[in-house]
Amino acid sequence: MNNAWVKHAISEIEADFQRSADTHLIRLNLPTFPGIYLYLKDESTHPTGSLKHRLARSLFLYGLCNGWIKEDTTIIEASSGSTAVSEAYFARLLNLPFIAVMPSCTARKKVEQIEFYGGRCHFVDSASQIYAASEQLAKELNGHYMDQFTNAERATDWRGNNNIADSIFRQMEREPHPIPAYIVMSAGTGGTSATLGRYIRYQGHPTHLMVVDPENSVFMDSYLQKDRTITGTCGSKIEGIGRPRAEPSFIPEAIDSMMRVPDAASIATIHWLQKILGRKVGASTGTNMWGALTLARQMRDRGEQGAIVTLLCDSGERYLDTYYDADWVKKNIGDLSQYTQQLEAM
Ligand SMILES: *Cc1c(COP(=O)(O)O)cnc(C)c1O
Repeated sequence: MNNAWVKHAISEIEADFQRSADTHLIRLNLPTFPGIYLYLKDESTHPTGSLKHRLARSLFLYGLCNGWIKEDTTIIEASSGSTAVSEAYFARLLNLPFIAVMPSCTARKKVEQIEFYGGRCHFVDSASQIYAASEQLAKELNGHYMDQFTNAERATDWRGNNNIADSIFRQMEREPHPIPAYIVMSAGTGGTSATLGRYIRYQGHPTHLMVVDPENSVFMDSYLQKDRTITGTCGSKIEGIGRPRAEPSFIPEAIDSMMRVPDAASIATIHWLQKILGRKVGASTGTNMWGALTLARQMRDRGEQGAIVTLLCDSGERYLDTYYDADWVKKNIGDLSQYTQQLEAM
């Protein structure tokens, strides 16, 4: 069992963790919501730029400890981009070949980053083909298919060990309302919402976990109809979230409620947020923030005070030629004005 290379690989990952810092919890000051505090857990500051840094670390440790990853194992992943960027980083740390299988429409910046970390990209036409293509490649190359969509919820230490939930609750300790009334998250693998939901229950917190879902995703339909077999034909336009199938890592029973967010609302929100934060964020952060603002409005209407936490999943610098390009938005998302007006009236 005690293979020298595996031992070395695990200690490399642990040493990398030791050199890293935790991510910030940003408090937003919104004068129109007196007594309601909104927080963004800023996952863009990980070395590979998104919350997928946590997942990639966990998946590598899981694969190593399960005996699935050995010296010279080719690592293969089905990814819309962010996970592949983070996994390419850890593959390079361990000197392992890495191949990302992704839809050809993935943001160019992400492709460049995967290649920057020495990974290769294998393109397929649509989001629904990435699973089978990854399995096929793993078979041909005798490699290991990481399968984030199955393993995300299992590879993460949900009870603590400074997972994202543990980190949020510790960073909230000195706030006016240390236990948030709500946590809002979107689902890609569903892994983060599973970790948050389990942690909240395990700790006995009264916090309500709401998952927001973009257009062209079946997570919400699957949640409402209690049916895991529903599939969609289109890919989500909000990178990182929304899937054409109810991924195995999506645990509906760990969630308290779900809300559908129109794509135009997500994009309007990132442009509105840029004025408040002074920075660009990715589109899934817009989906999260739209959900958080909707809850803040409801709390205000009910005369309640408290805290709402959501995630800043990645930076907008990755999407300058899509969500931050007016022509691209007009052509792919449509008119935002209805939502921009709602945001300005908040
Ligand atoms: C993966 C991802 C999410 C969703 O997180 P999961 O834990 O996979 O559900 C949200 N935003 C971005 C940018 C992501 O890459």
